[in-house]
Amino acid sequence: MQIFFPKEEPNEIRATILPEVAKKFIDLGIEVSVETGLGDNVFVSDELYKETGASICANKADGFKSADIVCKINKPTSEDIQQLNEGTIYISFLDPFNEKQIVSELASAKVSSISMELVPRITRAQKMDALSSQANLGGYAAVIEASRTLSKSFPMMMTAAGTISPARVFVVGVGVAGLQAIATAKRLGARVEAFDTRPVVEEQVKSLGAKFVKIDIGETEETDQGYAKELTEEQIKMQQEGMKKVCSQSDVIITTAQVFGRPAPRIITKDMVEAMQPGSVIVDMAVSTGGNVEGSKNDEYIFHEGVTIIGMSNLPGEVAKDASQVFGSNLFNMIEEFWDKENKVINFDLNDEILKGCVITHQGNIVNESVK
Ligand code: NAD
Repeated sequence: MQIFFPKEEPNEIRATILPEVAKKFIDLGIEVSVETGLGDNVFVSDELYKETGASICANKADGFKSADIVCKINKPTSEDIQQLNEGTIYISFLDPFNEKQIVSELASAKVSSISMELVPRITRAQKMDALSSQANLGGYAAVIEASRTLSKSFPMMMTAAGTISPARVFVVGVGVAGLQAIATAKRLGARVEAFDTRPVVEEQVKSLGAKFVKIDIGETEETDQGYAKELTEEQIKMQQEGMKKVCSQSDVIITTAQVFGRPAPRIITKDMVEAMQPGSVIVDMAVSTGGNVEGSKNDEYIFHEGVTIIGMSNLPGEVAKDASQVFGSNLFNMIEEFWDKENKVINFDLNDEILKGCVITHQGNIVNESVK
């Protein structure tokens, strides 16, 4: 059994695995090959992968030829899919609700594809949950980026020249990324407030020492996986009304609000941006799924009436080495879970709750119920 890790597209900083994880695959009895330069952006040389027993492939095409399993962080290109052998197991983020073309190409190529986004949120699968491992680092990076951009300090400082007030940070959406954003901003000494539509979050916000902003938007629901359900237009309006004052008083707003499988809710309007003090900063962590902030753009810094709106689509890439380490571990944990040691094969049991949730295509068909 051979597993191949091709290099990511040039705009990706993270590497799919680091050598420590390559070694774990080898110890399991799986041959590992990586495309030359896989770890370049995270300062890991081919040599370090080789030392673990992995082989280095000069190009993708060679790697695909002999691979039983192919793993990446980002979705494959059509050219990649054409080069995969029938029966290959392909694992990466696939964005299957939006990437219909890729899903149908994977099915036609008779590739067994797994979408890391759809790993179910059950206890047994937590160690494979790459959405969470990356969102956690993204939340940290968002606050660091905001602190670099803001022209004031995060902590309060009492100096001989007078007292500097702490920065006021407002976190909108308190899932995995939001919780880490709160924790990071608190560690830096900011005064932090937060809001989420799921009422259960209030306790978590308070336990981190932040203040929960209470806004009455009526009944809200969450799915059995813990995801928020979409608000009605009227509820979004109530939320905006309730947030206006906090927004206008904040030096930094970090938005992380997402609704699984749907475009991100548009929460911060142009008016709300304009009500902020010049010099304030907004980081829109939902920018690549439509954006929580009016005017935010993928991979751009927008300056609007003195407010900087940051739309970095790959925040985990700002801490690429750690993000690579945890992503690789998520992959390893998934493969180890289904590895049949005796027969040295993957036990591809589609009745298993985890595989049922995240396998998208198998033996020429789209097998995932929600994607179908
Ligand atoms: P997510 O990325 O889908 O969304 C981020 C946050 O945005 C969520 O907290 C959501 O409630 C919030 N949100 C949605 N619409 C909003 C709006 N209009 N205004 C403000 N906030 C809005 O969520 P996530 O980070 O993946 O996590 C969601 C929950 O699932 C969290 O409580 C998390 O702890 C839990 N979780 C559980 C597991 C598990 O294995 N059991 C794994 C990961 C996460």
